[in-house]
Amino acid sequence: MSEALEILKKYWKHDRFRPLQNDIIDTVLSGKDAFALLPTGGGKSICFQVPTLMNKGICLVISPLVALMKDQVANLQKRDIKAIALTGGIKSNEMIDLLDNCEFGNYKFLYLSPERLQSDWIIERIKNLDINLIAIDEAHCVSQWGHDFRPAYLKISNLKTLFPKVPFLALTASATARVKEDIIKELALENPVLYQQSFARKNIAYMVFEAEDKLFKIGQILKKNPQPSIIYVRNRKSCLDISSQLQSLGFKATYYHGGLPSREKDKNMQLWMDEKVQVIVATNAFGMGIDKANVKTVIHIQLPENIENYYQEAGRAGRNEEKAFAVLLTSPSDTKQAENQFIKNLPDKEYLNIIYRKLNTYFQIAYGEGIDEKFSFNLNHFCVKYNYPVLKTYNAIQFLDQQGILTLAQESSQKISLQFIISSKEVLRYLSLNPNDEEIILAILRTYPGVYEIETAFNCSLIAKKSKKTEKQVVTILEKLHEKQVIDYHSKNNDASLTFNEIREDERTISRVAKYLEKQNNLKKAQLESVLHYVKEDNICKSKLILSYFGEKEADNCGICSYCISKKPKSKDLKSVSQNIKDLLRNQDLTSRDLQNSTNTSPDTLIFALQELLTNEEIQIQPNNTYTLKL
Ligand SMILES: [Zn+2]
Repeated sequence: MSEALEILKKYWKHDRFRPLQNDIIDTVLSGKDAFALLPTGGGKSICFQVPTLMNKGICLVISPLVALMKDQVANLQKRDIKAIALTGGIKSNEMIDLLDNCEFGNYKFLYLSPERLQSDWIIERIKNLDINLIAIDEAHCVSQWGHDFRPAYLKISNLKTLFPKVPFLALTASATARVKEDIIKELALENPVLYQQSFARKNIAYMVFEAEDKLFKIGQILKKNPQPSIIYVRNRKSCLDISSQLQSLGFKATYYHGGLPSREKDKNMQLWMDEKVQVIVATNAFGMGIDKANVKTVIHIQLPENIENYYQEAGRAGRNEEKAFAVLLTSPSDTKQAENQFIKNLPDKEYLNIIYRKLNTYFQIAYGEGIDEKFSFNLNHFCVKYNYPVLKTYNAIQFLDQQGILTLAQESSQKISLQFIISSKEVLRYLSLNPNDEEIILAILRTYPGVYEIETAFNCSLIAKKSKKTEKQVVTILEKLHEKQVIDYHSKNNDASLTFNEIREDERTISRVAKYLEKQNNLKKAQLESVLHYVKEDNICKSKLILSYFGEKEADNCGICSYCISKKPKSKDLKSVSQNIKDLLRNQDLTSRDLQNSTNTSPDTLIFALQELLTNEEIQIQPNNTYTLKL
């Protein structure tokens, strides 16, 4: 067994690599640059995690999303692999500690947001590390033609000069031909070995249906396919609405969005994972880290923002390779609605300026200050206070996030405040009776000397760290103390957190990034066009439309999408063509072109017949694309 496979078995308990993983690992180990284009679910992170564990030294992973980094770090830690993430909102002194750990503590993975590479002192520290690989996740962010362009990614190429001997591995799940070129150029990859897996998902039937009564249509689909389903909606309110409407129709449904408290998120997700409910209605916050193989249908009831997102979300269906459905329901008003939602709410430079200044006022950040300050943030509250339209404001903030000026983390955070309502003597008595609670309570008392006198804002992660417990354990103790009337305790949920990554410079900050704004806005318009094309083009196979968007122009009709089904020949014709094919294959193996030439039938009918014979396992297809009769 190869060493790579041993590592995979030891830490991940998998018996074999997925397609291309092994080749990518070999390339990286040989010291060459590589570019891996693997669809979501293709196991991208294994490609840099396994080779790193085979060598001495540490892997630098650059990743744009806080949640993504946290997810991966937690995953590695679970496997007893030492990893940390330097995300926004960590104070410089904490960061120095973490980097010390990396340098002297045998860490294997250091996750960094690209914005961190803009600080010279961090670069200086990284230079001291024994880096064996640099992995750039979501590499399409380096391209202005990508759907998530982040200017900070352009700085990554500087690392090439600093680490000329270290291999670079660029990874992405979606890149059009243009984006691909950009990635290689902008990351300064040197003759990278290109690995690309086809985007074709042969077991997924892409369906576009026009439906006036979408709920009725959903009901029909779910009844016909009583297996696990995901329904994607555009906003949080629809999550709750649709899920309760489905419940009233007798379906078992739950919902999920970024604004739910994490405990509720976990609970709802678990219900669905354990198949206590059939359906989860969710925003696009749902998906990362979800590993459920038997999802039968993924239904979108509004137009997605772009094909990249659609492909990714739809692709959560049928991971077990069984036939599955990706359904997009549309109604005539959708186009107008999508334009209103996506296009009319794109901010211009002036609006960006207003929002940036207002955010600083809102959080009382003075000119020249604000770097690394983290606040809990409620978008609705902010918009109501200043009378701003929510969506446009959200887009402006999201743009600032993309540019690295601030970080908007969608995870909800709990704001806790507490006060001890019994005397210190009574607390000591409590401690003698409950020695297990001692570490946490002492940490609280040492950290917040005034906690007997006034209600005090409480930092759960700090206390967890000081008492060497988990945040969950801390919250459990707080709830217990509250129940026993030892403390008064309030917890309030916040929508999101906002971290300022740079000092406030108003005009200068905004002018620097404004040049990207128009491009981004145009790109968003073009992306919506592509979505509308996917929906409205009635004369092309849906699978072909998606593949051609990702640059695969040579695909065949899939035979199972809504277009292909509508072209399905009468069963009488199909039967005779099938018989004809079998007769021909009895004499020799043939390609679809040979069959086309000798059967005198329409290409559509031929594909259907072949598809059916394959499904019924009457014929099989060889690696050289010829068909054989199965005996
Ligand atoms: Zn098709």
